[in-house]
Amino acid sequence: MLGSGKPMSEEELKKTLTAGAIAAEARDYGASLVKPGASAREVCEEVESLIIKRGARPAFPCNFSINEVAAHYTPGISDDVRVPDKAIVKVDVGASVDGYLADTAVSVVVGDDERLRALAESAKEALDAVIAIMAPNVRIYDIGKAIERAIAGRGFRPVKNLTGHTMSRYLLHAGESIPNFADRSTFYRRLRPPVLVAVEPFSTSGRGLVVDAPRAFIYSATGREPKGASEASRSLLDYILKRFSTLPFAVRWLYPEWKESEISRALDELTRLKALVRYPVLVEASGAPVAQFEHTFFVDKDKVIVTTRAER
Ligand code: MN
Ligand code: MN
Repeated sequence: MLGSGKPMSEEELKKTLTAGAIAAEARDYGASLVKPGASAREVCEEVESLIIKRGARPAFPCNFSINEVAAHYTPGISDDVRVPDKAIVKVDVGASVDGYLADTAVSVVVGDDERLRALAESAKEALDAVIAIMAPNVRIYDIGKAIERAIAGRGFRPVKNLTGHTMSRYLLHAGESIPNFADRSTFYRRLRPPVLVAVEPFSTSGRGLVVDAPRAFIYSATGREPKGASEASRSLLDYILKRFSTLPFAVRWLYPEWKESEISRALDELTRLKALVRYPVLVEASGAPVAQFEHTFFVDKDKVIVTTRAER
């Protein structure tokens, strides 16, 4: 089983690579739809439909984060977010094949803006620098250092409180975080094979920190029993666990099967009882634009596979 330190079976590797190929295709398709005036909801629904059509499930809702929004925005039930004439848009996509995961993102610059293009380029170059050094037992510190060096070399800052992450079956965050800067606290930690890991450089012209916005459109079940929950909340939680297991889901995915008022009441209660985790929208602390690129890597004893590359 992946994540247990034991080798991956042929079957597990095949599912992991399939998830990677599907996520890559959905990411690039989503990016191709990013144009001035495009609806975030329509793009995300197209991306998620493609993942399902290819025989996988979204590992999390399509994230569509514009400008100073760094991550965790996905359209809500009734908002109508559209792409501005000049913007940087992060399309972050995940696929699950029987719980074997892929997580990948690109930044798309809309309109003629040299500064935004340079910002996007800095995150792309940081990810390329990681591809160049990724290897079994690589120091996690060295990954962060390579990211920071590439981004700083372009005159920008890495976002310090967003990280990459190891993954295991049905688990997007399996324990190890991959910093986007030379983090001394990771100096003695190495990426022990076999491991599946998402690396996601975020760069900004601002302070390099994200903060929680008030709104949240994404949640996930924890598997905890909601003691004292109402009947309505319990039945929504059963539905969530059956449909999404413990993977993140979008509030809009519950609609129209559940009523909007029912949904918000139950989500609040289940979050309070720790049966759900809420993922607030993350925005750059100084309101500056943010770029992100992300790939999933399978790091084995004798090889590295970028599972979310467009062509393998
Ligand atoms: Mn991602
Ligand atoms: Mn990720």
